[in-house]
Amino acid sequence: MSMNFQRKLPIPQEVKQEFPVTERMAQVKAQRDRAICDVFEGKSDKFILIIGPCSADHSEPVLEYISRLRKVADQVSDKMIIVPRIYTNKPRTTGAGYKGMLHQPDPEAKPDMYKGLIAIRELHMDALRDYDFSCADEMLYPENYRYLSDLLSYVAIGARSVENQQHRLTASGLDIPAGMKNPTGGELSVMLNAVKAAQSSHTFLYRGWEVVSDGNPYAHAIMRGYLDFAGRSISNYHYEDLLQLNDLYIASGLKNPSVIVDTNHNNSGKKYLEQIRIAKDIIHSRNASPIIKGLVKGLMIESYLEDGAQGAGEHVFGKSITDPCLGWEKSERLIFDIAEKL
Ligand code: PEP
Ligand code: MN
Repeated sequence: MSMNFQRKLPIPQEVKQEFPVTERMAQVKAQRDRAICDVFEGKSDKFILIIGPCSADHSEPVLEYISRLRKVADQVSDKMIIVPRIYTNKPRTTGAGYKGMLHQPDPEAKPDMYKGLIAIRELHMDALRDYDFSCADEMLYPENYRYLSDLLSYVAIGARSVENQQHRLTASGLDIPAGMKNPTGGELSVMLNAVKAAQSSHTFLYRGWEVVSDGNPYAHAIMRGYLDFAGRSISNYHYEDLLQLNDLYIASGLKNPSVIVDTNHNNSGKKYLEQIRIAKDIIHSRNASPIIKGLVKGLMIESYLEDGAQGAGEHVFGKSITDPCLGWEKSERLIFDIAEKL
């Protein structure tokens, strides 16, 4: 056989027992879950900001970033709920390259899935224990969700996974918001079909079990721009795009029509500095249209300690090794600017 089974890894229950959350951590997460779900249900008009690096490459700079974010979050808490992005597993367009801390807890060393599983749990635990942040991650591998299910307050289903049945069915069994991204080709129907699937109840196979999900009423759309047939980046965050999405939502009869707009990826064409203008444009659209204000529950911003992304051979603390990010000073300024205009 060409696939070599290296070693059996501990199941989520075992890892959770070895690295348990405290009662206080569980309480903080429960409170945050409630506050975030209230926004998607329209019971709260707080604005959700999912912000942080494209990939959590090393724990130290991510925790430094989160400690700075804590102070800002406290200052804008009357208007915003900040959910740090701690993205520990990365989808790759061609399969090549760094696949995240789960695969490579040390990006310079060989993949080690056991160490990776522990490293991502410890990082999410540190964020919750020391900074009262239950965070967002991408649910790249649905089977792995339960290694972090007592820590996360938000998951995204990525543009390359959103048409996959296992992702949709697993999302239907989560009790936290699951953001369904538009696919890389941009089809809004694929994204809304994913929301529909995730909002419905299903019986399916999960980690060797027959499971029944209730359906996730907090499943919603994420607009991230797309690539056209010629590989050009096309944005979908504009006023008209958001109104069109609202029409599609109404026609679909889905629960809790909601969208998070991703300001990077194909919305910025990965021109990360454009995120500032794009974020402000979306806030302007919300303030110009009560429909858009009701629909757009928040933003997703790629941000880290340093501006941009590392070149080959570079080793800069807190500089992205995947997509280019907005650096700290500009990010902090942007958060306060957004809060002021909400
Ligand atoms: C990301 O959020 O870094 C990401 C990979 O997003 P997408 O699935 O939209 O490409
Ligand atoms: Mn990214």
